[in-house]
Amino acid sequence: MSSDNWPGGMLAALIIPWHAAKNLKTCFFGKQLKELRVALKVATRYEYDNSHDRFEYMGLEFPFSFHEMTWGIGSELEKTYRSKFGRDCHGGPNGSNVRMLNIWSMNQQKIHEETFLCEWAGPLPDGAVSAAEAAMLRFYNKEIACSDCGDVIPLPGAGRYFAGVYCSGCWEGTKGCYRGKGGWKKTESEETYD
Ligand SMILES: [Zn+2]
Repeated sequence: MSSDNWPGGMLAALIIPWHAAKNLKTCFFGKQLKELRVALKVATRYEYDNSHDRFEYMGLEFPFSFHEMTWGIGSELEKTYRSKFGRDCHGGPNGSNVRMLNIWSMNQQKIHEETFLCEWAGPLPDGAVSAAEAAMLRFYNKEIACSDCGDVIPLPGAGRYFAGVYCSGCWEGTKGCYRGKGGWKKTESEETYD
């Protein structure tokens, strides 16, 4: 495939049906997916971003990213993962067994973010598969988990800040991180989006 075949403005996406994705060994999401992404980028001369790796589920497409997490020795991130995962968690600056899966809607709403333990040679853990699938099914049913408190709410939610979608309580500041501080609504109103 030559880049001359691609008219300006055309996008290329790597779309993985969810029924196939959930059975892939996670190493696919690392090296192999990266190779495919680079090949597509070269073929299309298109700058790549997360929206070009997608799961297909129930006829909808969901951009995703899948990362191996790294951290500095003694860092806050290391403490966070050690307290979340305990003794089974291992890693450092050069790699780890902590993975992060993010899933967005095509409208760039974050619908799912989860960190979990897994090895590259193994499949996605059952819990990670079911949580991701539940998030996509929720979105299909026009619902989303509030990006702050996690409550399931009808789309489009009370408000939005970048990829975050918030329930009315977290948006107005009656609960959540900005409780009593104007909520995400105030944060959003002060954002210049520069
Ligand atoms: Zn909320």
